[in-house]
Amino acid sequence: MDGREAQLEQWKRSADLLGMVRAHGVQLSLAGADWLGLCPFHAESTPSFRVTPRKGLWHCFGCGKGGSAVDWLMLTRNIGLREAVAALRELVPSVGPSFPSRQPSPPDSIDVSALPAMRFGAPRESTDQDVLWAVVEHYNGRLSGSDVARAYLERRGLWDRELIQTFCLGFADRTLGLEIPDKQLRRGAEVRSQLQRLGVYRESGHEHLCGSLVVPILGDRVPGAWACRGQREVLGLYGRKVTTGLRAGTPNHLYLSGQMRGVFNGAIALEAARQAGGTLILCEAILDALTLWRWGFRNVTTAYGVRGVGADLWRFLTESGLLRVVIAYDADEAGDTAASELASRLALEGLEVLRLRLPEGHDVNSWAVRSKDPRQALEEALAGAVWMGERLYEGKEDSVTKNAVRPEEGALLPSRRADGDNVQIRKGLPS
Ligand SMILES: [Zn+2]
Repeated sequence: MDGREAQLEQWKRSADLLGMVRAHGVQLSLAGADWLGLCPFHAESTPSFRVTPRKGLWHCFGCGKGGSAVDWLMLTRNIGLREAVAALRELVPSVGPSFPSRQPSPPDSIDVSALPAMRFGAPRESTDQDVLWAVVEHYNGRLSGSDVARAYLERRGLWDRELIQTFCLGFADRTLGLEIPDKQLRRGAEVRSQLQRLGVYRESGHEHLCGSLVVPILGDRVPGAWACRGQREVLGLYGRKVTTGLRAGTPNHLYLSGQMRGVFNGAIALEAARQAGGTLILCEAILDALTLWRWGFRNVTTAYGVRGVGADLWRFLTESGLLRVVIAYDADEAGDTAASELASRLALEGLEVLRLRLPEGHDVNSWAVRSKDPRQALEEALAGAVWMGERLYEGKEDSVTKNAVRPEEGALLPSRRADGDNVQIRKGLPS
């Protein structure tokens, strides 16, 4: 046995095999020096699944499966030997020098602190939030290993560690089911029906967002405290297909349910808007909002599509003390029409409304992607946003135009103000 094998043996023995099996939803009872339970790999009513912690081994007399903690990880997580050894190493505390064959993690890889099986395997009742967070964390953990998702984000200029971590971006790669206890087990059946009810699974049992970049829509439980899990609720999931060769008619954009709940980036946006003199940027798509955020414009949120201003977003726009909204919808007919309608509604609420102008056919993301310096291109576009009151009400005076005050040229955008109110919107910009 060489040093490497000895090291692996030590990890296998130090691993909490019992804990891992229990975390997968298997109920065990003591039988002499061993533990017995119903096998998670085949259907049975009399326990033939045995764990021997002293030896670090498990075995099923019914289906013949068995082995060490490494075999357990390979089977339950559907991964290869190398990955299983790396996963095991993560699970064994303070193991000394790193294992030579451990795969190097990509520089931007995302930490996944818990063994995924534990997320769904807990025997206690899980709330919808527990389960949704488990889904978000699972997808998040799969992102860095997915070439197709990474390539997509790179093409969009969004492969950015801070962005990925802040918004818990993920990738649905069909592996979710492998983290859930077997459906023959009570726990497995419970979790599956819960996931179906929440829309994560379809009636058919397939993952709804399969093949998609997944962006959770997170609600803030505590205003201002947005950074950690537990204070944010998962209100929904948005999926953007990134795989190619899809059947014609397959939608590129998916949401978990039809509801348009929550305000994307709400707490950060509000704080940043306050620092930016009350200005909020409103996009029509999540990827556009992520683009602005990534390039330093954090006072940004998004509708869920060009007709997607739901009740939560409307309340946010009109009741949180904002002074002006820059509508950054696509530069096309649908974007223009929706922007005009929204502008008149917002103006009636007393808000100043501006329209971000991009060359015909562009959206925020495509404009940033084609620019050599996206930050500067976006800043210039924002500085050139036009006041909508004039265009909207040209020629037909009504109460809105009568009361509206045409601001001085260039006075609207924080990035053009000289009084220092523009710290946040210009965050990270070269001075
Ligand atoms: Zn078995």
